[in-house]
Amino acid sequence: MRHRRMLAGIGLAAAAALTLTACNSGSPTAAPGTDGGEPADTSSLWEVNTEVDLAGSPTYDRMVERDGVVVGVKNDQPGLGIEDATTGERTGFDVDIARWIAASLGFDEEQIEYVTIPSANREQAIVNGDIDYYVGTYSITDSRDEQIDFAGPYFITGQGLLVAADNEDIAGPDDLAGKIVCSVTGSTPLQRIRDEYSPGDTVEYDTYSQCVEQLKAGSVDAITTDEAILAGYVALEPDELKIAGEPFSEERYGVGLEEGDTALKDWINTLFTEGGDTWTALFDIHLAPAGISGEQPDVDE
Ligand code: GLU
Repeated sequence: MRHRRMLAGIGLAAAAALTLTACNSGSPTAAPGTDGGEPADTSSLWEVNTEVDLAGSPTYDRMVERDGVVVGVKNDQPGLGIEDATTGERTGFDVDIARWIAASLGFDEEQIEYVTIPSANREQAIVNGDIDYYVGTYSITDSRDEQIDFAGPYFITGQGLLVAADNEDIAGPDDLAGKIVCSVTGSTPLQRIRDEYSPGDTVEYDTYSQCVEQLKAGSVDAITTDEAILAGYVALEPDELKIAGEPFSEERYGVGLEEGDTALKDWINTLFTEGGDTWTALFDIHLAPAGISGEQPDVDE
């Protein structure tokens, strides 16, 4: 909370920007924290490290050899990871976490290559070495941990439900009998809704924005995924969409890394632990405007 006061100005600016976004809801790629065309400039929040002292990380060695970083992200999650369809510009909390890590490792924006990878393909992309690390609403789970490592967590949210704004019969996951629920292949929310609840049916797509289209078209009754993701869609179209009920899981977001790269994992965890001001600034810019609350979690031991 100490940092909140200091950064109140940023929060207010972001809130004002969100008002513009809400009025402008024709643009599905606009993210909270932007005015729909001008992404918030977060580059002043960190400097590119010129004295990196990181030994024993095969991933970092590969970055140095390549003279650049390849980061896996999402491109359709407002407030978290968005790619502007016109300019190609990437914005969002997760994207900035990825940038902040790259800067700590000595790489500037021109040296970052972003690769959009859907939920189902994340572990494989890391195992194959297609990306150096992944930042995109990626929950730390035991089964994923068998194939890769996670730094963090850097954010905690919970699974929720998104419905049409005029829906009155779904108020939580126990109201899904006979309802069609949309989620994303390979995601934890899809698995949980099937394993622990009894929806009438489930349909799955590669991305949550595809589910939003289905919901708006009336082909599905609800979408389930993390509230932080759902709140971003609501912020863009508050007259069309709403979150139903309370979160019913704990999703702890981590940075996906190559299995066994403990040196890089420790590096990122130290960055998070020592970087509370930066974390808070990013939260206030990207997530708070959508009504998301949260505090920076401690990283795992
Ligand atoms: N956090 C959940 C997961 O990692 C859902 C969000 C996503 O699909 O990225 O599966």
